[in-house]
Amino acid sequence: MTDPRRDLPSVDQLLGDPAVAALLAVAPRDTVVGAVRRVLQAARRRRTARPIDWAEAILEEVHRTGQRTLRPVINATGVVLHTNLGRAPLAAAAVEAVAAVASGYSTLEYDLSTGARGLRTDHARRLLGELTGAEGALVVNNAAGALVLALNALAEGRRVLISRGELIEIGGSFRIPEIISRSGCLLHEVGTTNRTHLSDYAEALEGAAAILTVHRSNFTQAGFVASPGPAEIAALARSKGIPYIHDVGSGLLADLTPWGLAGEPRVMDAVADGADLVIFSGDKLLGGPQAGCVVGREEPVAACARSPLARAFRADKLTLAALEATLHLYRDPERAAREIPVLAMLTVSQEELAERAGRIAALLPAALAPRLEAGDSAVGGGSFPDAALATTLVRLSPGRIGAAGFALRLRLGEPPVIVRVADDQILLDPRTIAAADESPLIGALTTALSA
Ligand SMILES: *Cc1c(COP(=O)(O)O)cnc(C)c1O
Repeated sequence: MTDPRRDLPSVDQLLGDPAVAALLAVAPRDTVVGAVRRVLQAARRRRTARPIDWAEAILEEVHRTGQRTLRPVINATGVVLHTNLGRAPLAAAAVEAVAAVASGYSTLEYDLSTGARGLRTDHARRLLGELTGAEGALVVNNAAGALVLALNALAEGRRVLISRGELIEIGGSFRIPEIISRSGCLLHEVGTTNRTHLSDYAEALEGAAAILTVHRSNFTQAGFVASPGPAEIAALARSKGIPYIHDVGSGLLADLTPWGLAGEPRVMDAVADGADLVIFSGDKLLGGPQAGCVVGREEPVAACARSPLARAFRADKLTLAALEATLHLYRDPERAAREIPVLAMLTVSQEELAERAGRIAALLPAALAPRLEAGDSAVGGGSFPDAALATTLVRLSPGRIGAAGFALRLRLGEPPVIVRVADDQILLDPRTIAAADESPLIGALTTALSA
C-alpha cells in the first residue's frame, strides 16, 4: 500500500509555482511561506489523497490570514442590542467625534482656558448631570466595572444589603454575588427570591455599609412577587445615613412607552427617586459606546473618582468622545430618536418596516422564493426581555443546501451577513438592516446563492 501523503510537494516546489511566486510580489515572504506550510499540513492530515489546486489553496490561505478578525457585519436578525454583534451601533455624530479625536491630539486632560492639566472625567460630566438631574457623574470602562468601583469605594470590608430576588446573572460571567465579593464587600441577603419588603432591609440596616438594588434586566418575575420601590428604599437608607446604590443596567434616557416599551427604569427616574449612586451601561438603550456611567450625589461620586480602581477602569478618549456626542443628541429628544440608531430602530413604524421588507424581497433572486410575513423583533442586550416588537420578515428558501448551510455561506461572505434560521428556512428582519446595508445585503445573498 502506498501512502499518498508521501507524494506531497515540498515547500520550495510550491514557492516555485508561478502563481505562488507572483504572490511574493504583493505579500511579505513570511506570510506566503506560512500559508504554504499550513496548506501542506492540512493536506498531510487529510486521510484521502484528493487532488489539490495548490496555488488556489495557498492564495485563499494568504487572503484569510490577511483579513482583520474584528469586521463589520450586517445584522439581519432584528435583535437591536445584539451583544455578540457589538451592541449599539453609534450615531453618525458620535462616529465623527471619535474620528476627530482619534486622528490627532485632543483636550483629553487639558484645560484650554488655563493651559494647564484638566480632568478626563470632566468631559461627559456636565451633560450627564443635565440629562439625568444628578449632581455628579463619572464614566468608566463598562457598567460591571462601575459597580465594582462603587461597591469598593463605599463599602469595602463591610456588609452590602441586597434582595435575594436580585442575586442575578447578567451574562458573560457577570454574577452579582461574585461582583459583591470581588469588590471586597460582604454580601448580606435580605428577603426571599419572590418577595422582599422594606422591613427586610430595615431589620438588617444596623451596621451595614450600603444597600444595593439591581434591575432584573434579562428576565421578569410574575405571580406572588413584591419589592419596595426605589424611592422607599432611598428614604430608608437616608434615614440611617447609609448610601443606596441602584444598578439600572440599560441606561435608558428616552421615553419609549409610546412604542409599547415599558418596565425598564429610566436613569433620571432612579436619580429623582433618591439613589445616592445610579449605575448604567453606555452601549445598551442609551445607544452610545461601551462605557459604565456612575451618576448621583456629589460626595459618593467623588469617592468613586478618588479610588485607585477609577484609574484602573478609566474610559479612553474614543469612548469619551463618542459618549459626549451621543449625550449631546439627547438635548433634543426628537433628534435623539431620529439620529441614535438604537432609538431609531426601536421606534421605526410598522409601515416603514413593511416597506423595507418589500424593497429587499423585490430585489432578491426568485430562486430564493422571497415572501413577506408578520413577525416579531427582540430588543436584546438584556433589555425589555418580554417585549416583542411587530415587524415584517422576509422568508427565504435556500433549496438543496439547506438553511444552516446557506447561513454559513452568508457568514463567510463579504460582507458577512447574520440571519435568523427557522424551520430550515432563512428569515431577514429589516429592523436592524440599515438603509446603507440594503444593497450589500442583496449582493451577499445573490453571491451566496450562486456559490
Ligand atoms: C448589562 C448590565 C450590566 C453590565 O453592563 P456592562 O456595561 O456590559 O458591563 C450590569 N448591570 C445590569 C443590571 C445590566 O443590565
